Amino acid sequence: LTSEMKAAMPLIEKLESDGYEAVFVGGAVRDAVLGLAVHDIDIATSALPEQVMGLFPKCIPTGLQHGTVTVVQQGETYEVTTYRTESSYEQFRKPSSVAFVLQLDEDLLRRDFTMNAMAIRQSGYVYDPYNGQHDLRESRLRCVGKANDRLQEDALRMLRAIRFLGTYRLRPVPSLWRGLKSYKGLLRHIAMERVQAELDKMLSGDAPERGLAWLGASGLWGEFKEPASPALLTRIQQSAEYDGVEMASLSSLEHLDERWAAILLSLRAAEKDAQELLVSLRLPNKRAGLVMTILRLHTEMAVRVNEDDESRIRAAWLEAVIRYGEEAAGHWLHVVQALKPQRGQLSQEIVNRLYSIMKEMPAKSLKQLAIGGNELQQALSRRAGPWMSRLLNRLLIAVASGDIVNEKGKLIEQSIIWNEEGTYEK
Ligand code: ATP
Ligand code: MG
Repeated sequence: LTSEMKAAMPLIEKLESDGYEAVFVGGAVRDAVLGLAVHDIDIATSALPEQVMGLFPKCIPTGLQHGTVTVVQQGETYEVTTYRTESSYEQFRKPSSVAFVLQLDEDLLRRDFTMNAMAIRQSGYVYDPYNGQHDLRESRLRCVGKANDRLQEDALRMLRAIRFLGTYRLRPVPSLWRGLKSYKGLLRHIAMERVQAELDKMLSGDAPERGLAWLGASGLWGEFKEPASPALLTRIQQSAEYDGVEMASLSSLEHLDERWAAILLSLRAAEKDAQELLVSLRLPNKRAGLVMTILRLHTEMAVRVNEDDESRIRAAWLEAVIRYGEEAAGHWLHVVQALKPQRGQLSQEIVNRLYSIMKEMPAKSLKQLAIGGNELQQALSRRAGPWMSRLLNRLLIAVASGDIVNEKGKLIEQSIIWNEEGTYEK
């Protein structure tokens, strides 16, 4: 038992002492068996949802119709779900009805893969009727029951399969692989939001490259409800043939959206294709914006850095940091280090240099400039207009480059000179 499970033990004990059965199930059991860190703890019980709610003072009725109650204990939340079976899946997703049952066996039977159909009892005994542990030892992913049936019932399981193959470094048993190839067309029934959630999970895991390789090799990516552009699909396919070796070293990136950016750069995705892909996946605007900014920074910077002219690199970098912000610039620096050399990776030396230039910039945004638009207007006795932002930007670049000191007096002095020359007007 992991420490997280020990912490949850009072729940199991309470249910059992009231005459119900209660066991740990799902991903936590799988990860505990593998000796990995356990995330969320799921408990399955023979008690009905109302009975569970009756036993614990702090409950949230998360999904009563599916039998799920979230129990809050010591600040932790636990999903407690009544043993159930599923029947008549609708639209190749989600069962249209569930029935509560009293037998653990029946509950485990509805679960997708053998490694996800194990339970741990109060005693610590691993109940494993479908030999999930054996499959794990052999690094195999296998459906509970017939792959063809299970994938047809719920097409999302195909994406779950890909995610597990990658994250846990497994190989599909032949029947699962055949099933994935035969029924991949059913993916068009899965909402793109769900696809995105699975891809995100896959990419945040330990071996995102492997997941992507499986996704490409199985041809699943081309079957989404909203598929990527043909050009991008071809690249994905090609990269799968190399078993993902052409991909950036994604695992070195901690930020999920840096991983997305690195993938798109590795695939040499055109800006338009990348944008379309992120939109089709319903990536929230803020995240899509960050990914696109990293791609643009790359287009603008990678070329100039290769020119290898110190002062021009510096000037381009200052402008880029000002235009896109320090945060995005930092993300790009992470990404560029993870890329493979042929995709525009920069030497550690250049990366360090860019970092230190950024760190030493006396001002990185207009907010940090020691003067604002109103003060400029007064100092130059001019009416507000587009000239202001042009002048402010010019000042910011001069300050950032160290040409002018960031003090109000100095900035006004310089503005008066430029104003007379009219140099910033164009
Ligand atoms: P994760 O580590 O991502 O949480 P997980 O296996 O725990 O992986 P959950 O979505 O939390 O995934 O589901 C918990 C359990 O519910 C699974 O282990 C599996 O037994 C069952 N399950 C989840 N989704 C499905 C599905 N689409 N079909 C069948 N069983 C499922
Ligand atoms: Mg889980």
